[in-house]
Amino acid sequence: MDVQYTSLSPIAGDDYPRNWNQFLEWFGTDEACQSYLEKLRWPAGFVCPRCRQAGTAYRASRTRLMCPNCKYQGTVTAGTVFDKTRIPLRTWLAAVWYITNQKQGVSALGLQRVLGLGSYETAWTMLHRLRRAMVRHGREQLKGIVEVDETFLSITGRNTPPSGVRVRGNTIKVLMVIAVEILQPKGFGRVRMRRVAGKGARDLVPFVQDSVAVGTDVRTDGSAAYLPLRDLGYDLDQTVILGSGVPAHNPLPGVHRVAALVKRWILGTHHGAIQPEQLDAYLDEFTFRFNRRTSRSRGMLFYRLLQQALATGPVTYDDVTRKASHARKSAKWS
Ligand SMILES: [Zn+2]
Repeated sequence: MDVQYTSLSPIAGDDYPRNWNQFLEWFGTDEACQSYLEKLRWPAGFVCPRCRQAGTAYRASRTRLMCPNCKYQGTVTAGTVFDKTRIPLRTWLAAVWYITNQKQGVSALGLQRVLGLGSYETAWTMLHRLRRAMVRHGREQLKGIVEVDETFLSITGRNTPPSGVRVRGNTIKVLMVIAVEILQPKGFGRVRMRRVAGKGARDLVPFVQDSVAVGTDVRTDGSAAYLPLRDLGYDLDQTVILGSGVPAHNPLPGVHRVAALVKRWILGTHHGAIQPEQLDAYLDEFTFRFNRRTSRSRGMLFYRLLQQALATGPVTYDDVTRKASHARKSAKWS
């Protein structure tokens, strides 16, 4: 529901494997993985990443393609999330299959175990590269009726695997803002979320402007921080909770439901062990999963994530470990 690439709908057993058995049949060798990725990256035939000319590429070597026009040489993964990886393509594809087939996602430790990876760091970096592909540039904004509210998320700030020892007094509270589409007569649509520095208009208004279409009915609590939205073309609908009285019903049920799911996911799958500056990447993963929760085929998620990974620029280990918010801004990710 969040993705519109082409008018063609990918077909199970044709464009992506139906199940694990078929996955093994299709992707037995790195060459097979490579030609699958070539088809996915250039569905209408090779387009040179440098000179943008379409044409049939020469094969300069087993893995390298050469542009017939400008003589550029590169592999199918050059300039993508998989750029300069030393991990075999079979391992990458198995990782994408595994993480899209696990409804709750997977921790780095879980991925290391299931793929038999040599180091935790490798698994951790693979997951972070793939998370960068989970937010698609230029995706559609939320619309209709949208609830917006802030919530605090507790994380422990460790990025090492949990040792089974419960660490106390190490919890960090991070403020985040969530927007949820409310469907009529009931149910929730898509979500967007972001870590914010404060509860002021300076943080909350840009989030709404980025995530929600102008003209939308935006529902918030009585905070004055949202008032500027009125002059920006939004139909602001505020529920003011007077005094300290608890309202008879929850005025923003969608946001609170989603907030509870995010918190459970962070604690359950990731044991709360997330560095604050990397939280945005985790929120992107949650959003990717939530917005595709009704997708009937998990194989379709495999296909979409790979497709987005090939359309997303390189991610280095430094990018991942440096401040995520900075990387996000400089790359103009939405
Ligand atoms: Zn070229």
